[in-house]
Amino acid sequence: MNWKTELAQSITDTKQLPPGFSFKKKEESFFKECENRETLPFSVTPYYFSLIDFSDPEDPLRKQCIPTEQEFHIKDYENDDPLFEKNYEPLPSLVHRYKNRVLIRATGRCAMYCRHCFRRFITGKWIGMKEPDELEKIVDYISFHPEITEVLISGGDPLVLDDKYLISLLESIRRINKDVVIRLCTRIPVVLPRRITTTLADALAAFHPVWLVTQFNHPREITEQSKEALSRIISKGIPVLNQTVLLKGINDDSVVLNRLFSLLLTCRVKPYYLFQGDLACGTSHFRVNLNRGMEIYHQLKKKVSGLALPSYSVDLPKGGGKIILSSSTFSGREKKWFVLRDYNENLHYYPVEHE
Ligand SMILES: *Cc1c(COP(=O)(O)O)cnc(C)c1O
Ligand code: SF4
Repeated sequence: MNWKTELAQSITDTKQLPPGFSFKKKEESFFKECENRETLPFSVTPYYFSLIDFSDPEDPLRKQCIPTEQEFHIKDYENDDPLFEKNYEPLPSLVHRYKNRVLIRATGRCAMYCRHCFRRFITGKWIGMKEPDELEKIVDYISFHPEITEVLISGGDPLVLDDKYLISLLESIRRINKDVVIRLCTRIPVVLPRRITTTLADALAAFHPVWLVTQFNHPREITEQSKEALSRIISKGIPVLNQTVLLKGINDDSVVLNRLFSLLLTCRVKPYYLFQGDLACGTSHFRVNLNRGMEIYHQLKKKVSGLALPSYSVDLPKGGGKIILSSSTFSGREKKWFVLRDYNENLHYYPVEHE
């Protein structure tokens, strides 16, 4: 089976679930309600679905892909655009938040929709670049800003685009500057490993320097297939980093994370960030209390090698930017808020949840 066939066979409807599948109450009420609500689409690749342990209602992989009614519970401090990316978009599909790097939203589509997705109001809506004029404008913008040394290609998931389109995108970027670093942000190795063909890996390697950043959140996501996919990429000289989202009831445990990060090292993947959850609408059930997150990180620090330890970070609410969390970024607590200090000494508020 090729990857396009597998992607086309994704489970997008409850009618496609296998006969033995039984819903949890919270899941069932999501599907009952979702028709009248704006939500992230439901779509799971057959591969990822096959990794779920259905005998365990609390299975960490199930929770990442099967929605629950909790997605309709919206907190007043949550936002459709939690990082205020709209304020940093000089052009459609281009985010210029940090001086020397830009992020291109190449597509709104993903192979699987992660229920914790913080771009949930963009992803699934097929909002992406409209060839060719949007791309041309983006390329011009990057050419006019020589301070840009790194271009992130994100989405959605850029690796759902077919090879031909991806290659033309990479060609346009590489043409601007032979040194600009291209960073592909994708969950494909986790959810559709067969998409990483040798042909794709070869094609990407023609545009060095290319880096790939993926998102493994649980040790059970590291399988023979995903290992082989990573290997196909890495063997072409493309370094792979991983960003893990800290998720309540999924990986908020130093033993689980220790295992995940150690396994990633054996796949030659460097754990890069461990992200505190962003304040996207309907994701509070996935967020971990910040104090608890710090505690888990402290436990990890005592156990794992420096190579295996990512930076624990948060994207500050309201577009405050990414910071690495440490005791010095904590500036106390005011009622239901943690007060965090950014690198310019500005203060930001992050809610206290799940105490
Ligand atoms: C996270 C992010 C980056 C990259 O930040 P790093 O700390 O270099 O990984 C770039 N642009 C945007 C808009 C981001 O959200
Ligand atoms: S792959 Fe990334 S963008 Fe797509 S749903 Fe998952 S977290 Fe969101």
